[in-house]
Amino acid sequence: MHIQFTEKATMESSLKRAMDKGELSLMYQPQVDHFGHVIGAEALLRWSPMDFDIIPPDVFIPIAEEAGLIISIGEWALKGACAQLKRWSQSGLTKNLVLSVNISAKQFRKANFAEMVEATVNQVGINPNLLKLELTESLLLEDVDAVISTMNVLRKLGVKFSMDDFGTGYSSLSYLKRLPLDELKIDKSFVLDIAWDEGDRAIIRSILSLAQTLKLRVVAEGVEIIEQRDYLLAEGCCFYQGYLYGKPLSEENFLSLVHTLQ
Ligand code: C2E
Ligand code: CA
Ligand code: CA
Repeated sequence: MHIQFTEKATMESSLKRAMDKGELSLMYQPQVDHFGHVIGAEALLRWSPMDFDIIPPDVFIPIAEEAGLIISIGEWALKGACAQLKRWSQSGLTKNLVLSVNISAKQFRKANFAEMVEATVNQVGINPNLLKLELTESLLLEDVDAVISTMNVLRKLGVKFSMDDFGTGYSSLSYLKRLPLDELKIDKSFVLDIAWDEGDRAIIRSILSLAQTLKLRVVAEGVEIIEQRDYLLAEGCCFYQGYLYGKPLSEENFLSLVHTLQ
């Protein structure tokens, strides 16, 4: 326990300085349509501390959340994503790409979240329609009205919303109906065994029919093999993200991929 505590405390203080030291970066994982054309990307954080191996976000995001650092890290990621959209806007091939950014519940609940997003969009000078915020079902555990009103402020601005890891958490269907969402993201755990698990197939079918009723678009994540894509397409899911199309890539490598798949 002592070792764990020391490690966490050390990680926390290193993480505090990581932004200033330029150790954080964003990677971009392509999202494609059923023609295989890149339509956008998800921005994913990476932490590469000096002299250490890269630390995956699954490890450092929970620590950042516990320490309250997720507010400044999340803001850093959003600003980086908007700057990326600005750079994409300058070339014909990338100017319509949509960029999704993960927003943790704690960050979203911060009093001035909507103002911060609006100020960033205006300062960087991007088209807000190309910015998509990925939220998780944990946001729905308390004060859903406050969540809806923040979402509505941003939606008026043109920002889009996606419900990430859909189906894994707590999500009341009546809340879902009230949320101004644009998209559901099928969690990769359901896609993984799609070829042989009848339970996962049933879940995917019901997510797709729910999305159709609520007029939401659906992206499946964790698509690794063509058989998974074929099944999803046959069931009516037309947007995909996963290793079949590309791993999270640096800005430069993402750009090469867009050129290749155009
Ligand atoms: P997530 O939002 O569910 O992101 C998808 C994760 O699945 C990414 O892991 C991605 O690399 C991985 N993935 C994508 N395609 C495949 C596939 O075909 N097969 C498999 N097995 N995995 C695939 P990553 O980059 O390690 O991110 C992990 C989590 O960290 C994210 O899960 C998200 O919850 C969190 N995260 C990442 N960046 C941010 C951020 O900027 N802010 C916040 N709040 N959380 C972030
Ligand atoms: Ca996500
Ligand atoms: Ca996800």
